[in-house]
Amino acid sequence: MPSWRDGDSLGGVFVAACIAAVLAQDPGQLARDYALAVAAVNKAHADRPVAKDEGELGKQLPASAAKLVAELVRCGDAPEVRDALATAAAAALDLDRLDDFAALRDRVVQLDGTFANDIGIALSRLRFLAIATGGVEPECLSRIADVFDLVLDAYADVFGLRNFSKVPGKKLRLRIHLEAKITRPPHFAPQFPFHSEIDFPVIDGKAFASPTKEGQFLFYGLCHELGHVIAMWGDRQNEEDRHAWAHYTGVVIVEHLAKAKKDSPALDGLRDSRWRTLDFERKRLEAAKTKPGGKDVDGVLARLLALHDAVGPAAIGEALDALDTSKKHELVNRVRYYRMADFQKALLATKAGKAKKKAIDAAFAE
Ligand SMILES: [Zn+2]
Repeated sequence: MPSWRDGDSLGGVFVAACIAAVLAQDPGQLARDYALAVAAVNKAHADRPVAKDEGELGKQLPASAAKLVAELVRCGDAPEVRDALATAAAAALDLDRLDDFAALRDRVVQLDGTFANDIGIALSRLRFLAIATGGVEPECLSRIADVFDLVLDAYADVFGLRNFSKVPGKKLRLRIHLEAKITRPPHFAPQFPFHSEIDFPVIDGKAFASPTKEGQFLFYGLCHELGHVIAMWGDRQNEEDRHAWAHYTGVVIVEHLAKAKKDSPALDGLRDSRWRTLDFERKRLEAAKTKPGGKDVDGVLARLLALHDAVGPAAIGEALDALDTSKKHELVNRVRYYRMADFQKALLATKAGKAKKKAIDAAFAE
């Protein structure tokens, strides 16, 4: 969320009132009413998903709430008006209402351009909403979105996985923020109640390259984090995959794209496949004679590699989808947590798995 500063750039001129049409309105209240209406639509959908996508869901915002945007935009300048515009703009993104966001954003930037970087820019694609703050330029946002589209395609092509969001019908959020220095790598932010979100720091607002000069693998990180979005393991106390799952899917996807899409302009300047591939991990585990197991990260990675070789990634995706359909998971804040024992059974039930019982059981033996 943008941190909103006090408007001392007003130079002491304190314009307290909105124009006559909304003189009686409290801008903070207008924004809160708008945000509450957005949250109510999202909550009703999360409890009982009916809308097929977020476009359909966005239309469920009552007209009485939608018209608050125009009222807020008509407000005259005052610090509380800017706060209200920012609050409502953030809420608009929660329902993929990009027209609302643009109107609110444009107004707050018109009032004070120094806040443009805090409120950011946004781009809506079929499967996700990319939001960028801190001064990321539109071309750079669009480029990262192109990469993300390729990564999502790759998850579908390789694993057959298409259900990314923890709430059916809700788009993923990719929150990009420009930083002077990356102190925390990209990560899955599970706390949002109605959508899955990946937090994505960058150090260049004009171009997207990876790894960075400091050796941070942003492209691999993006592929890795989607692994977390798709599946968490065990529960919050016992991470049953020892953090190997997202590494496994991450290197598989990096390797796949390096081969299948090597001529894609979106992947120009992304060199992660020199260091982050399944092949590299395979050789490393073989050299260390690592056996499949469940106790540490490399043991689980060796298990996933053994399964990958035995049944193929499509069957791995099929097993996860089956667990999802049969609700064989625990939901923590709607995030899906699977059990390795259930995964084993689901793999054995796939067509590929039926022919590979011995290899699957061996991968789960320890
Ligand atoms: Zn991770």
